[in-house]
Amino acid sequence: MKLSIKQDERLLPGEQDRPLLIAGPCGVESKEQIMETARALAEYPVDILRGGVWKPRTRPGAFAGVGGKGVAWLKRAGEEAGLPVATEVATPSHVEMCLSHEVDVLWIGARTVANPFSTQAIADALRGVDDVAVMVKNPVSPDIGLWLGAFERLNKAGVKQLAAIHRGFSIGGGGGFRNQPVWRLPIELKRRVPKIPLICDPSHICGSRKFIRRISQEALDLMFDGLMIETHISPDDALSDSSQQLTPNAYGRLVAALEPKREVVDNAEFQNELSVLREKIDELDDKLVTLLGERMRVVEEIGERKERTKVAVFQPSRWEEILKNRVEQGKSENLDPNFITKLYQLVHEEAVRHQER
Ligand code: PEP
Ligand code: MN
Repeated sequence: MKLSIKQDERLLPGEQDRPLLIAGPCGVESKEQIMETARALAEYPVDILRGGVWKPRTRPGAFAGVGGKGVAWLKRAGEEAGLPVATEVATPSHVEMCLSHEVDVLWIGARTVANPFSTQAIADALRGVDDVAVMVKNPVSPDIGLWLGAFERLNKAGVKQLAAIHRGFSIGGGGGFRNQPVWRLPIELKRRVPKIPLICDPSHICGSRKFIRRISQEALDLMFDGLMIETHISPDDALSDSSQQLTPNAYGRLVAALEPKREVVDNAEFQNELSVLREKIDELDDKLVTLLGERMRVVEEIGERKERTKVAVFQPSRWEEILKNRVEQGKSENLDPNFITKLYQLVHEEAVRHQER
């Protein structure tokens, strides 16, 4: 599937030598708050002012945003600071209010993307509108189909300026994250839709200020095109997501500390070294895939014998033994036990499938 994203035109404003930067509060709380935030942010590199006016809250009673009147405040603050503005939409009436106030960029939130009825309704409301960009957050669960589906619906409705936001997934998994990053999903999305710009939202991944710099840098190392970072003039007083918002000043320091990465550089020595190492990787992968094929053929032979002797395909004690030994062997090669476990779980699942054929 190919989405027809506008050719030769940057989706969103930004400078080539640094990532696209989107900053602003989780929620627009008052005219003064958004004005002050915008003014303070304008001192630093920033391309788009964000601010949610309709906040999807997990529990009723939490601050649900100031509603429609916030759209005008956000737009006004953006105009004063010379910045395009972005806000979240979840219903066709949100879209209409944003269009009537000339909001430049819309985003669809993680909870909304999880619901095809909602994404379709938003796409329908945007039919024929070609001057707004739409950013689609990943759905709350790691389902690439739902994420892709939202792009397809928008694309079919004629929306050409699209971007994807990785904001992590509600899958637990520790690491101290509010929403676990699963980098292979946005990377797979990019493989399937090469022109889609990838933006990382470290604020909603981290849920606290602690790891925002680390996750932002990780995204840039993975060639993400931009970052969306929640910033508030007084984070401790914020009405939503207070522990993850940065002051504009801390945002400025963060942005200054980030190191953008390039995909290719004009440095012959580096390119040579890289291609020699890549050749090695190709050779090793070649061996790895051949070995996996060989392993599966042996597995099939075992399968045939088990079938003949009426022995069960899955043998828990053998599986335990394989896992234990490979994890031990992995340790001597400096390989993380978690990695070996996951790898062997996949290999074992595939082996069982081969024996059941
Ligand atoms: C937000 O960006 O403020 C937001 C609610 O994000 P998400 O949809 O990722 O939870
Ligand atoms: Mn938020």
